[in-house]
Amino acid sequence: MVKVIPLYEGTFSVAIDKIFRRIDKSDPPHKNALKLSINPFLIQDDNQNILFDAGLGDLLGQDTSIDMILGNLEEQGVLDFEVTDVFLSHLHFDHMGGLAHQKNGYWELTFSEADIWVSEAGWKKLSESIDSQDERKRDFFHFLDSHANLQMLTGNSSNPISNIRVETIGGHTEHHQALYYENVDHKYVMAGDVIGTRSAINRSYAAKYDFDPKQSMKVRKEIQELSYSEGHVIMAYHETDNPMFRLTGYDDNKGYKIENISA
Ligand SMILES: [Zn+2]
Repeated sequence: MVKVIPLYEGTFSVAIDKIFRRIDKSDPPHKNALKLSINPFLIQDDNQNILFDAGLGDLLGQDTSIDMILGNLEEQGVLDFEVTDVFLSHLHFDHMGGLAHQKNGYWELTFSEADIWVSEAGWKKLSESIDSQDERKRDFFHFLDSHANLQMLTGNSSNPISNIRVETIGGHTEHHQALYYENVDHKYVMAGDVIGTRSAINRSYAAKYDFDPKQSMKVRKEIQELSYSEGHVIMAYHETDNPMFRLTGYDDNKGYKIENISA
């Protein structure tokens, strides 16, 4: 058995200042801002409680709190220390903020028993640039660096634990990873911000926020082909409604047919 659940943390309007301002699901974003939702994904099978990305936590954003992800997990019957593994697609703070939080002024690991799987090259790059961040993010990073059970992923492709495959795809960030859960019956892929929303499907575009827009375009196309041919469910981290879907048909004019998958 495998159960996959998006742990919706909210919908936000994000402008150039990168502050996550909470808005309603149905609201448009503020002027010159993007509308982004946040969905870490919980994958539960017989032996593991895995997270694909870790959400905002209370590291960034207005009206955000670590209680959101913890409450969502609790609804699934999972306590914080029961999370076994957290995989990070990339090291932007909106994807990792939930890994640690402050309680009574002290930093704490949110998932104290979990292995935190990151790109080794990505972690090194972040450590070299962390001084340009504000104090809170620096503290967050240094706390994780010294206290988290960090597991460094190297190479272009690896199978670090059963049913999990990690591929380095680049594109959105230099060391961006695509995360796969695959067993005999179920196939899932989470490609971080390379396919962050369903609007990425059936469109060819170069995004200026990408480290390597052309590489993003290439992988975005490949993952759509994979979902269509192999039946992988795509998990879209920034999607507001129905963040899990599969591509079930192809038409030369209309492109792929999108079929929602309910949790
Ligand atoms: Zn993102």
